[in-house]
Amino acid sequence: MTEVFNLQLHVAHACNLSCDFCTHYSNHGHKGIVSLERAREWLDGSKQRLDPHEFVLLGGEPTIHHDSPEYLEKVEPAVRLVRQWEQEHDSRAEIRPSDQEWMRLYQGTGSDMAPFDDGDPRTSWKNCVTRHCTQLFEGKLWKCPPLAYLKLQKEKYGDGFSSRWDPCLKYDGLPPSASDAELQAFMARKAEPYCGMCPAQVHTFPVANPLPSARRAS
Ligand code: SF4
Ligand code: SF4
Repeated sequence: MTEVFNLQLHVAHACNLSCDFCTHYSNHGHKGIVSLERAREWLDGSKQRLDPHEFVLLGGEPTIHHDSPEYLEKVEPAVRLVRQWEQEHDSRAEIRPSDQEWMRLYQGTGSDMAPFDDGDPRTSWKNCVTRHCTQLFEGKLWKCPPLAYLKLQKEKYGDGFSSRWDPCLKYDGLPPSASDAELQAFMARKAEPYCGMCPAQVHTFPVANPLPSARRAS
């Protein structure tokens, strides 16, 4: 078995929220649900070979946290439900103030989105918040969300999508047919040239209220 720190699977590419610089590009209005049968197929390809410390289902994100009063009021029923589950199932849920460590990994948004070009992929990887977030997408393993879902951005914006992304669009995930040695090499890989699309400097910023109603008003 090959160890994976954090294995993530999108059950939906869409999101109820719209956070600036979402590393999964879910703030760009993507559609599509991964059916249970499809997810099972993808998992069947790797479950005998991977030993994830964490397995994360993503999509919709009803409980991400932001501290604006409007958002806290909206999310309160979900928090109450989570607390109820803790009692009923003798378990513990951790609520993280994720908005406090928000950073951007690309510039611009939509068809104006552009990669960074700091020329220091090793430092970009060292500072990367998603460097341990391996994605299971289309049955393959992908290094991180920005590389896995970049093709969705290209499909959406077509010729309007900057050609500066072309080298990164060549990235392909590791197929289930990969040998054990290839899988281990994939998981051991740290910085690679693709990481040059991300900033070497850390760009933090105060993330705006991600509720779509707040985004429309701003
Ligand atoms: S909650 Fe925000 S960060 Fe999470 S997937 Fe949705 S848009 Fe992206
Ligand atoms: S390409 Fe490298 S630096 Fe950029 S998000 Fe992926 S792992 Fe992180």
